[in-house]
Amino acid sequence: MRRFEGMVVAITGAASGIGEATARRFAAEGAILALCDLSEDALAQMVTRTGIAESARTLRAVDVSDIDAISSFIDDAAQSLGRLDVLVNNAGIGCFGHVDEITAEQWRRTMAVDLDAVFFGSRAALPYLRTAGGCIVNTASISGLFADPGLAAYNVAKAGVVNLTRNMAVDHAGEGIRVNCICPGGVGTAMLKSHLRDAAIMEDYERLVPMGRVGTADEMAAGIAFLASSDASYITGTTLTIDGGVTAQTGQPN
Ligand code: NAD
Repeated sequence: MRRFEGMVVAITGAASGIGEATARRFAAEGAILALCDLSEDALAQMVTRTGIAESARTLRAVDVSDIDAISSFIDDAAQSLGRLDVLVNNAGIGCFGHVDEITAEQWRRTMAVDLDAVFFGSRAALPYLRTAGGCIVNTASISGLFADPGLAAYNVAKAGVVNLTRNMAVDHAGEGIRVNCICPGGVGTAMLKSHLRDAAIMEDYERLVPMGRVGTADEMAAGIAFLASSDASYITGTTLTIDGGVTAQTGQPN
């Protein structure tokens, strides 16, 4: 399938994990890419390693919590590449600890990277998406749908992403802009591995997943690409849960 031939797709947090897989997926389907992450070197290495350098026309070091940096990334990409069809707000960080364990600075940083950046990036992209009839796909989390123990700030930030997705979908549907999010369960990226550090903890986690394993970044990218594609032309404001069945169960002992 080459559903994005000639379209311009901007992806945040593209140097690794789900962002990298999403960049590979859109490149394989014909898109021109504008990619940002904290390190331009990491992006350059990723596009070389994965063989997508030809598609990845803009690589930029951006801290997505900086409104000027993310706005100028979007403006420069859309103007130099001539259009913007899809924005994937994907960059994110974890934050572990109960409310009385984390600092105010950790709380604020989590909100800034995981939630404010979605607002900043979307706001910058909307004028271009209006022209292109484009769309936004946000990487939220199942942690934004329920309370994952010990992840208060992260859960709240991702819940904000879910509802910001719905709000933007409703507010901009009349302009031909669709806005959706994916809600991944556990995905075997650096983020999850930093949390579930050893094999035994990972095995315990996987026992709780009806499908018996964590997801892959490619499986998340497939969901993002579906929501961005014309196959999803009547879908807006939705949360696509991709979690191997975790949120389909009550969790009650039997
Ligand atoms: P990852 O750590 O591999 O990738 C995250 C990327 O975001 C990294 O390349 C990192 O450098 C970048 N990033 C972090 N802070 C940034 C900032 N301030 N500005 C720009 N870039 C920044 O992890 P991942 O699992 O691929 O995470 C991608 C998204 O998926 C995140 O939003 C995360 O919350 C979400 N998610 C992950 C899981 C999981 O289990 N891995 C589950 C649900 C949701």
